[in-house]
Order: sequence, then structure tokens, then C-alpha cells
Amino acid sequence: MYTCTNCGAEVAELYRRYSPSVLKVLKCSTCGCLADKYIEYDPVIVLLDLILLQKSAYRHLFYNSSFKSYWKLMMVLILGESFQKWFAVNTSVASSILSTPFSFYIAQGNDVFEGEKSLYILLIQTTLSLSTFILTIILCMELRWLLSGRRPQTYKPINLVKALVIGRFPNLLGLLGIVWKHNSPKLHNVLIYGYELLCLLTAYSVVSDSRKSGSSIVLILGLLAHSSVSSGLFGMPQSPPSNVTSVQS
Ligand SMILES: [Zn+2]
Repeated sequence: MYTCTNCGAEVAELYRRYSPSVLKVLKCSTCGCLADKYIEYDPVIVLLDLILLQKSAYRHLFYNSSFKSYWKLMMVLILGESFQKWFAVNTSVASSILSTPFSFYIAQGNDVFEGEKSLYILLIQTTLSLSTFILTIILCMELRWLLSGRRPQTYKPINLVKALVIGRFPNLLGLLGIVWKHNSPKLHNVLIYGYELLCLLTAYSVVSDSRKSGSSIVLILGLLAHSSVSSGLFGMPQSPPSNVTSVQS
């Protein structure tokens, strides 16, 4: 089954092919609009609509397109996010990251910090925090369907994982700040974070078929779990040992 990108209803087929060069996009019987107008569009147009947070483009990507390489996107996301953290520590721009449980490993001097070990540690940290973020939201969703008893037929956890990966992708815009060396990185990061939240909200509300107010609560819980793992609130060491020299000094 496919999904109408306009209303989200299930449709049996999206188009009918009359000849190798002629096909007709079918209409949705629920809303009367074209079931998926993006079939005839160039992928660049689809990408632009995704950037513009069009829900129909997100439905096309999650339900009707043949794109399957979400795990590759997740790898890129983890690598990009870890590199941003590593760069922030390396240049002492983001002093807050030094309060993370792994900071004392990073701050132990040249032997560790100048090697690759600190990047690997950050990769593990990013993977754990991203996994916690996704698992928390899936659990919240399951709890929500259990309590409300209104589980949408189209909902599948795998689609939620896809939505969260796509929704977090604007985080990679932070790499542009590293390349271009912004004069005001804090403002840049605030704008990126705001846009990332909007992407997450749009992608999540498409998959969960819920309003943005309800989606916001679940997303906030997921982001809290993410920051908890990222900042180490689970009994991990919060400050470097006394014999460690901080990279800030
Ligand atoms: Zn429809």
C-alpha cells in the first residue's frame, strides 16, 4: 500500500501506466487530490519541499519513494555531529562540552587529544545519545497508543526512525560554520537548532499523524533523554581528575 501525500490516507496505487512514456497519476479517493504529485517531479524539487517543511514531501519520502539508505544517513549524522563536538573541544570554542563525562579523557594532554582516540570516544557518545533519543520517542509513542487506544494503522516504528534521522539532519549545517568560520557561532547554532526542531516536529507529526502540540511533548522528552546521555547524568564523572590539565587553561 502507498500513502496519499495530501491527506495521509492509504491508496492502492499511485499511478497507472498506459505506455512506456505515458503514465497517469491517480487521485486519492479520500481527499480527491493527486495521490502523489512528486512522482512526476524532479528529485531536486522534492528536496526543496523537504527543506521548506512541506508535509506532503515528507510523506512521499517516507511512504512512496524507493529511498532506503537511511542507515547511511545515520552514519553521516553521527560522524558529522561527533566531528562538530571534537572541533569545538579542539578549538576551545564550546567550553560547555568540557563538562561532559568524556571531557577528562579529551583533556588529558597531547597524547590522547591529538590522536584519534578522543574522536572515537565522541563517536560512541554521539551514537549512544542518538540511540537514546530514538528509543525514548518510540517508547513514548507506544505508551501513547496504549493509553489512547487509537494506534494509526499506517504507523510503524521503522517509519518513526526514518523521520527522526531526517529530522536531525539539519544538525550537519553546523559543519558550514566550521568551514566558513562564522563571527557569531552562537547565533548560527541557535538558528540551526531552531530549524532542526521544526524539521523534527514536521517529520514526527507526519509519521505519528498527530498535532504539533502532542508531538512537541514527545519530542521534548526525547531531547531531554538525548541531552542527559550527552551531558552524562547517569553517574559518570563530571569533572577531570585534579592531576589533569584542562585544554582551556
Ligand atoms: Zn488524500
